[in-house]
Amino acid sequence: MAKAAYWESIGDGRVRCGLCPQACVIPEGGHGICLGRVNRGGELEAENFGRCVSIAMDPVEKKPLYHVCPGQQVLSVAANGCNLRCDFCQNWTIAQQPARTSLVPPSELVRIATDAGSFGIAYTYTEPLVWFEYLLEAGALAREKGLMNILVTNGMVNEEPLRELLPLVGAMNIDLKSMRGEFYREYCHGDGLDAVMRTIRLAAAACHVEVTNLLIPGLNDSEDEVRALVGFIADVDVRIPLHFTRYHPQHKMTIPATPLPTLGTAADIAAEKLYYVYVGNAGHQERSDTRCPVCSNLLVRRTGFEAALVGLSGHHCARCGRVADIVWCA
Ligand code: SF4
Repeated sequence: MAKAAYWESIGDGRVRCGLCPQACVIPEGGHGICLGRVNRGGELEAENFGRCVSIAMDPVEKKPLYHVCPGQQVLSVAANGCNLRCDFCQNWTIAQQPARTSLVPPSELVRIATDAGSFGIAYTYTEPLVWFEYLLEAGALAREKGLMNILVTNGMVNEEPLRELLPLVGAMNIDLKSMRGEFYREYCHGDGLDAVMRTIRLAAAACHVEVTNLLIPGLNDSEDEVRALVGFIADVDVRIPLHFTRYHPQHKMTIPATPLPTLGTAADIAAEKLYYVYVGNAGHQERSDTRCPVCSNLLVRRTGFEAALVGLSGHHCARCGRVADIVWCA
């Protein structure tokens, strides 16, 4: 438990949280939508501070991050909760309802990461931005020890806390679920689009960013919407890797899985503008490799979550000499 940042009293013992666009108004004894913040006696507290619902070593490719320390394992840790309520959530049992947690203070988290030989700490599986106070403290300690902080996030956070956090972050994978605000409101139960787009812009100027888009048949997979999403990312930086991932029926959503041709079409559209386009959750070997954007030389070959560096000479393309857009481990 820690004092929460970014909130205000609004009378009658109630508080309004200012960490994310949900702007929860919380009465005494109540929790915010994200489950992690509680009003105790008219003060907002970060009840989720140090409370971990999951901790494990994972391939960094699983985040997915394809341009950060390829082939390496990273300590991956999660809070209990999320500030969205996506009908198609893959991790709803730990993201959308209370789950058992264990206390891992920041110093202990960093010790676990260094003992495991991890190059960093990935805050993932649920929504790390609602773990804000813990991220600040653990992130600063991790950074001191030479570890990279990685956020796998929905990007729905207000600007001021994001700017406070970014100096500690080395890499992010940010979900861009749709280019329509209506999609966020109807299927994710949060008015998130503008905040997510701002997060992508600000993060891309501060650290390495990759973007994930889960394609759901009939909801966000039209060619027009894919073109709008690709155009937005290209406008930020054509070097941002984009991952189209295959949807499977989960939680409250029963629409059948994304047809493979839909993913291929989206990837073809994206490849017209972006340097790095991947297809995930679909067993699509060709679309998971990294090629040099200048000469098409195969740089990194991926099989499942394994990565082999095949066409690199040091940190450059072995054929044309272009510097690879990859963040390397020290
Ligand atoms: S961080 Fe949590 S409590 Fe704060 S506004 Fe967002 S969902 Fe509500």
